[in-house]
Amino acid sequence: MSSRAPYDVIIVGAGIVGLATAWELVQRRPDARLLILDKESRVGAHQTGHNSGVIHSGLYYRPGSLKATLTRSGHRLLTAFCEREQIPYELSGKLVVAVRHEELSRLEQLYQNGLVNQVPDLKMVSREEMSDIEPHVRGLKAIYSPKTGIVDYRMIAARLANRLQTAGHDLLLNHSVDRIQSNGSIRIHTAGGDTFVGATAIVAAGIGADRLAQRSGLRHKARMIPFRGDYLVLRPERRSLVRSLIYPVPDPRLPFLGVHFTRRIHDGSVWIGPNAVLAGSRAGYRRGALNKRDLWDTVTFPGFWRMARQHWRSALGEWFRDYAVGAYVAMAREYVPELSLSDVMRGPMGIRAQLVDADGGLVDDFRILPTNAALFVLNAPSPAATSSFAIARYLVESAANAFGWKLRAKSD
Ligand SMILES: Cc1cc2nc3c(=O)[nH]c(=O)nc-3n(C[C@H](O)[C@H](O)[C@H](O)COP(=O)(O)OP(=O)(O)OC[C@H]3O[C@@H](n4cnc5c(N)ncnc54)[C@H](O)[C@@H]3O)c2cc1C
Repeated sequence: MSSRAPYDVIIVGAGIVGLATAWELVQRRPDARLLILDKESRVGAHQTGHNSGVIHSGLYYRPGSLKATLTRSGHRLLTAFCEREQIPYELSGKLVVAVRHEELSRLEQLYQNGLVNQVPDLKMVSREEMSDIEPHVRGLKAIYSPKTGIVDYRMIAARLANRLQTAGHDLLLNHSVDRIQSNGSIRIHTAGGDTFVGATAIVAAGIGADRLAQRSGLRHKARMIPFRGDYLVLRPERRSLVRSLIYPVPDPRLPFLGVHFTRRIHDGSVWIGPNAVLAGSRAGYRRGALNKRDLWDTVTFPGFWRMARQHWRSALGEWFRDYAVGAYVAMAREYVPELSLSDVMRGPMGIRAQLVDADGGLVDDFRILPTNAALFVLNAPSPAATSSFAIARYLVESAANAFGWKLRAKSD
C-alpha cells in the first residue's frame, strides 16, 4: 500500500511568487503533484495585479541581501520566461534624477551600490545626456539604468496559471486557507471547511502571510501594516512628457517614497506614483476603505506606534499630498517642469504589504520562515515581482535541502 500523500507540494497564494514557485517545481520535480490554493476568484488579485509593472535591475538593495541577489537573477529568469512565452516586455531604461545639490552625494552612493550589485550597463549621466534620454526631464545629474524595464505582471501570473493547469496541476480559487498543520506532513484547513493533505507546503500569501503564519503556530513578532499606493495618470495627450521611467534619489530609510513616473507596457499610459499612505484595510481598493479587524490589528501592534514615532513627518507629508493633488504634482514638477495639474487624473491604487518588526523597523529584505514541513514567505515586498522567479528557485532549493527532495538540474 502506498503511503504517498495526495499532493507532494501545496502552494498557498496564487500571486506571482506562489505561481512562479509552482512553475519552478514543475521544472525541477516533474513527477511532483501540485495543488495551488488562493482565496480570491482570480490569480494575481492583490499586489501582483496592482503594481507599477517595473522590472527592477537591483540598484537600491544592500549588497549581499536576498533582495540584491535575487533581483539580479530574477531579472534574467523573468525576461527569459517572457521571451519563451512571448509576453511583451521592454527594457526601456530608467533615470534616477538628482534635482538638488544635497542629493548628489546620495546619488553617487547609489551608483556605487549599483556597481557592487552588478547592475548591468549602469552609467552616471550629465544634464545634457539626461535630456537626450528624457527630453522633458530637469535635473543636475542622473543614474541611467538601461536594463530596467516594464512588463505586465498580471499577464505573467495568468500565463503561469494556465501552464500549470495544462501540465495537470490543481489550482483552486475561492479557497481561503485558515490554518496549516505541519507535523511531518501537511494538513491545510480552509475557511470553507475543506481539508487538503500534502507532504509539504510553500506559503506565499502576500499581505495575509503574518496571520496565516500565526494561525499555523509559527511564532513571530512582526505584523503586516497595509499602505495604500495611489497613482495619478497622465492625460493621453500629455504622455509624450515621459518616455520611460523617471525616479527620484531615494531616502535610504524609506526608499519607496518620492515621485516615480512609469510608462505602462500594455497601453503606453504614464502613471505617477505610487504614494504610501497608511491604509485602514488590507484589501480595500478605494480611498477611505476601512476594515475594523485590519485597523484593530494595526493600532494594537506596539511596533506600529514605534514606526509612527520614527516616520510621522514623512507619513504626514504623504497623507497631505494624497488629498492635495496639487502638492503632489508640484513635487512631480521638480522632475518634469512642464507638468501641470490639468495634465493628470486620479488613477488606480495598490496595497503594499509592509512587514514591520516589533521594534518598529520596516522589514526591507525578503524573509522566509521554515517549519518541519513547510516554508512561509513572510515578507516579499517590492521588487518581489521582478525577483519572483529567483525567489521561486531559492524556495525550491531551500525546500529540497530541508525536506530531502531530489531536484533536476537547472535548465539555464
Ligand atoms: C503599489 C505597488 C507597486 C509595486 N511595484 C512593483 C514593481 O514595479 N516591480 C516589482 O518588482 N514589484 C513591485 N511591487 C511589489 C510586488 O507587486 C510584490 O512584491 C509581489 O507582487 C509579491 O507577490 P506575492 O505573490 O508575494 O503577493 P501577492 O501578489 O499579494 O499574492 C498573494 C496571494 O495570496 C493570496 N492569499 C492571501 N491569504 C490567503 C489565504 N489565507 N488563503 C489563500 N490565499 C491567500 C492572495 O489572494 C494573493 O493572491 C509593488 C507593490 C505595490 C503594492
